[in-house]
Amino acid sequence: MNRVLFRDVSIIDGAGRPAFPGEVLVEGNRIAAIAPRGTALAAGEAEIVEGRGATLMPGLCEPHAHPSFVNTETMEALGAIPPEEHTLLTAKFALQLLDAGFTSIHSAASAKPRLDLVVRNAINAGDLPGPRMLAASPEMTVTGGLGDVRLHHLHRDTFGYVCDGEEEFRRAARLFVREGVDTLKINPSGDEGVASARAWQTVMTDAEVAAVCAVARTREKRVAAHARSAEAVKMSLRHGVEIVYHATLADEEALDMLEAAKDRVFVCPTLGITWAALNLPRPGRGPMPAGTRATLERELEQGAANMRSLLKRGVRVMPGGDYGFAFNPIPENARDLQHFVELLGMTPLQAIASATKWGGEIMQRPGELGLVREGWLADLLLVDGDPVTDIRILRDRARLRAIMKDGRFHKRPPSPGIGPA
Ligand SMILES: [Zn+2]
Repeated sequence: MNRVLFRDVSIIDGAGRPAFPGEVLVEGNRIAAIAPRGTALAAGEAEIVEGRGATLMPGLCEPHAHPSFVNTETMEALGAIPPEEHTLLTAKFALQLLDAGFTSIHSAASAKPRLDLVVRNAINAGDLPGPRMLAASPEMTVTGGLGDVRLHHLHRDTFGYVCDGEEEFRRAARLFVREGVDTLKINPSGDEGVASARAWQTVMTDAEVAAVCAVARTREKRVAAHARSAEAVKMSLRHGVEIVYHATLADEEALDMLEAAKDRVFVCPTLGITWAALNLPRPGRGPMPAGTRATLERELEQGAANMRSLLKRGVRVMPGGDYGFAFNPIPENARDLQHFVELLGMTPLQAIASATKWGGEIMQRPGELGLVREGWLADLLLVDGDPVTDIRILRDRARLRAIMKDGRFHKRPPSPGIGPA
């Protein structure tokens, strides 16, 4: 059996408790034992990794991943990629996420119906390297909603799958379930930058949301909603949506409803994309109009205030910032942990727990994924330095000395020793 002993490491368990010095033994794909420093684990023959004080922590989870959004400058450019090339690119970006320390990704939409699920299947079969992955459908959206980039005289595609009326939504949901997605994605609200469906507008009807949720319920799938407006959040919760993306413009009633559903729902505000739009260069997009800037600044402020309120109420608020566009590219995803510290006032340990402990839960592996704990799955990062002192070091791939997924090194530590422990 595969046995690896991490010696002299500072252990961040991912549950929020302070780091402690110790050693960790991995056997097969599980964490077999954890001991404080000085208590030699009777390991027998094992591969030995001398940590020399480096941090050992759970692998990260990206709960709003878009491996098929391949850093294009525009939404239309994404639609113009043929399926074969697009499949290869999706595999490439899934691998980039694992290289960046994300051992699990929960997709928040696939740009074409089968991209996510084909790559997920290839990873699970051992044909391609990549993170643990849950696959999503494209974004089911109404005519004129986020993701509908057609013009009256011209067909154009992006990540949207346009449906109108409950029959069309039901048929699309059944189609994506048939193909094998884990998550059905709907766009009940608009988004800033979509002229015909703004962020505060709710564009799907109750009947349309209900139709998708009913398909999900009978087929044991989950629904994720792009819900920026207060009404889109409420509509999603009324019908059983489990993953609420954004909730940036939620009002008091919507926050109360999220609190009431806190054992079921996950909320990911995706602060990263709004922050990037305001603060980073926008290749191919030109300068941002002043009105748009003011609207986005307000949304970032209200979104952060909403998340602080939800965290106090015990709601699982997770990072994940809609990375996958030229101005907010994969694999910069760990920047969201920094936003959680700087914009939400979390401690670095809390921000890490939101991406690890809750990560295992959104991946539907509660009790076995997301913590450094005996008996749990060995998805581990060996990090040069202390992310509690400076959360930004998790953005630096050179500091990831080792990446282990399911007990196997994806990235080996430099010159490990092998011998009796
Ligand atoms: Zn997204």
